[in-house]
Amino acid sequence: MSIENLARANVRALTPYQSARRLGGSGDVWLNANEFPQAPEYQLTLQTLNRYPECQPKQVITRYADYAGLTPEQVLVSRGADEGIELLIRAFCEPGKDAILFCPPTYGMYSVSAETFGVERRTAQSTADWQLDMDSIERQLDGVKLVYVCSPNNPTGNLVRQEDLRRLLELTRGTALVVIDEAYIEFSPQATAVSWLADYPHLVILRTLSKAFALAGLRCGFTLANEDVIALLLKVIAPYPLSLPVADIAAQALSEQGLERMRQNVAEVVENRRWLAQQLDALPCVEQVFPSASNYLLVRFTPDSHAFQTLWDEGIILRDQSKQPGLAYSLRITVGNQYECERLVDALRRLPGINN
Ligand code: PMP
Repeated sequence: MSIENLARANVRALTPYQSARRLGGSGDVWLNANEFPQAPEYQLTLQTLNRYPECQPKQVITRYADYAGLTPEQVLVSRGADEGIELLIRAFCEPGKDAILFCPPTYGMYSVSAETFGVERRTAQSTADWQLDMDSIERQLDGVKLVYVCSPNNPTGNLVRQEDLRRLLELTRGTALVVIDEAYIEFSPQATAVSWLADYPHLVILRTLSKAFALAGLRCGFTLANEDVIALLLKVIAPYPLSLPVADIAAQALSEQGLERMRQNVAEVVENRRWLAQQLDALPCVEQVFPSASNYLLVRFTPDSHAFQTLWDEGIILRDQSKQPGLAYSLRITVGNQYECERLVDALRRLPGINN
């Protein structure tokens, strides 16, 4: 008997998330994972590696609470926002009975996490301007426990309209949690829904140190919600979810100095994004550059340009989005540093397009 047959049926059928790292490639310009282009330098200050770490390191929690304008009881820290996505499913969804709902094109882990736990997935595809299709969502809410909404949305880069989010929160009161994934919110800080936690006991917000804080390699994210929700998540989280070095560096990243560095990162990305969008807009192989509230640009290319493969072969690695609904010929391009943006534009200039 093969070991494969011992696995749960849904795990046998599962296609794992195709992360940028898993997809591989060999290049020197990596613009496929929405990382910050430069590594910050941190030193370890805690030396007590013989001891288990705190489950929820106090300094990390209080500093994040201060940064977000919340109380420590409203903050949970985990192994990236990805673990937050999964903990919510484990705490709130009965496999084979409850469902989650999300709005493609969007981040892939809501679907993969639900599938792993045997939880039904429903989708309400976004409208042509990538806003929520409120009618479709409303029709499908029966049996839904979690609605995941990503804003700014990955990979389209737009913010979701606040009035729609409010309406969604009204529709789900008492029946489901609304999870707003704010992984990229530092690039549009005015759009955060964090102050709404006072009005909605069923609102959850996901955050991360992977993007604007330039710490994707650290694996540290946050779930913000009211105390009752956090208490439930603490029941299902691992006993030691963060290693001591992670807690050590996360606390430093959330110090006054760390926050200042993050704001500089954001300013640099916004400036490079403006330059890159302008350059891309003028290229013959580019059909459309979509406005972005984030650290990446979604770009639709001409059908004959073969931009993804050509640049891949040149060592410039982008993220192909063409399999996502409504995103034919579209690539997601992380805003890199100035050198990376220039390399990209130079390479794209050589591709065929409507003006050639
Ligand atoms: N949400 C979105 C929208 C993301 O793009 C990402 C990063 N790929 C995550 C969550 C996960 O972030 P983390 O690195 O904190 O697990």
